[in-house]
Amino acid sequence: MKINNNKEIIISVLIMLTGVLGFFVYKNVSQNKELSQNIKLKEQAVISLEEKLTQTKIELASTTQKLSLVQEEKNILEKEVNDQATKVSDITSQIQNITGAIGTIDKLMKIDPELLKKYSKTFFLSENYFPTNLINIDNQYTLNPEKDLWIKKEIYENLKNLIDGARNSNLNIKVLSAFRSFETQTNLKSIYTVKYGTGANQFSADQGYSEHQLGTAVDFTTPELGEGLVNFENESIYQWLNENAYKYGFTLSYPEDNTYYKFEPWHWRFVGKKLAGKIHNENKNFQDLDQRELDGYLIYIFD
Ligand SMILES: [Zn+2]
Repeated sequence: MKINNNKEIIISVLIMLTGVLGFFVYKNVSQNKELSQNIKLKEQAVISLEEKLTQTKIELASTTQKLSLVQEEKNILEKEVNDQATKVSDITSQIQNITGAIGTIDKLMKIDPELLKKYSKTFFLSENYFPTNLINIDNQYTLNPEKDLWIKKEIYENLKNLIDGARNSNLNIKVLSAFRSFETQTNLKSIYTVKYGTGANQFSADQGYSEHQLGTAVDFTTPELGEGLVNFENESIYQWLNENAYKYGFTLSYPEDNTYYKFEPWHWRFVGKKLAGKIHNENKNFQDLDQRELDGYLIYIFD
């Protein structure tokens, strides 16, 4: 009986244990089910995120491609803009060159080409030549206030400045003679002929006269020398002119020992400051320079 009781107890305990175990197994299985469901949900979420990531990467690639196309178009447009700007700049500089050339031609056309011509025993100004723009020289600058003297207007300021410059050095310089027309010279020549006869170097008289006919040549004197001009080369005014006349655009036409005319220390011709400066600095004479070289200075004559 006791044995049976024990058996019953063991069986009862076994049944109880089985029940408890079953309960735990059941609980564990149901927990596992819940977990794997959770995992599945998470996995789905990850898949969904991965899909979105892929989609975003595709969009990014497409956008990058578009951006690169836009960048390429921008580069092409920039190059075109630069090319056009270069063309505009080329055309502008061409226009400037043409404008400059036209300005030079226009300036040259307004300057009398005779003003830098060399006159020689064979090359004279025409008897019909008459300069433009003659202006009356104020009689404070001339030897004889009663006598009207004329000079080319464009050089009048330079002439006045020269005379004022000499006065600042206490030298009283006067204009004895300036523009002479063909008729005046013809009369003068007949006077000379009467005075000195035909042997008095008629060629030379014509040559010196040519420069006066231009309206840019001047004979200087002083109140003491008057019209005589004797020993002009020994006067301090001659030394002053040799040292300073070039600053006002004047040069000595017929220096001492020249081969083309007699020495005329009083006779100065306006050739412009640039050319007169060159002649002075290089210790040359106007008549010794090549005519083509002289013509190159024509454009600067009134500068
Ligand atoms: Zn003269």
